[in-house]
Amino acid sequence: MSASYPDGVVLISVLKGSLIFLSDLVRLMTTPVSIEFLAISSYEPDSGRVRIVKDLDSDISGRDVVLVEDIIDTGLTVGFLLGELRRRQPASLEVCTLLDKAARRILPLPIAFVGFEVPDVFVLGYGLDFAGRYRNLDLIAAGEMAALTTDPDVYVRQLYSPDATAGGP
Ligand code: 5GP
Repeated sequence: MSASYPDGVVLISVLKGSLIFLSDLVRLMTTPVSIEFLAISSYEPDSGRVRIVKDLDSDISGRDVVLVEDIIDTGLTVGFLLGELRRRQPASLEVCTLLDKAARRILPLPIAFVGFEVPDVFVLGYGLDFAGRYRNLDLIAAGEMAALTTDPDVYVRQLYSPDATAGGP
């Protein structure tokens, strides 16, 4: 990504999921980076109806901007955010996501920077949560949504054990 922005770039991290990815990403970048945060809350899951609960601290007009996400699933959240950010007239606006669940996409989106494509499974760790759990795991694991809904802590013992490995339950 650094090669695309030799004069610097504003990275906007969508809290809280992309925080861990952002912190690793910026330390690997070799161009000046400004960091901004946005926090959103969903009105209804999968509806694409989100509300900005913490807005940017700076004006992004005329700046090169990249929105940094943990995972893009239906694309509705990023679609909404891109609309909001475009109104602020950045010089350019692209998307970077650690994980892309492309098979689930409802809203087609051009994603300039993708870490990994993942299948249609629910993933946890490295910033990604279920009901606030699992974000600080230093791995990405697949979990069963039915098991998590019954007991949000169902994988805690297994994934926080010293010999937990990527791949998960
Ligand atoms: P979208 O609007 O693209 O459907 O959903 C995006 C948001 O849903 C992500 O930023 C993330 O918060 C949540 N999400 C989607 N898939 C997963 C997943 O597999 N695991 C977790 N933990 N969150 C997910």
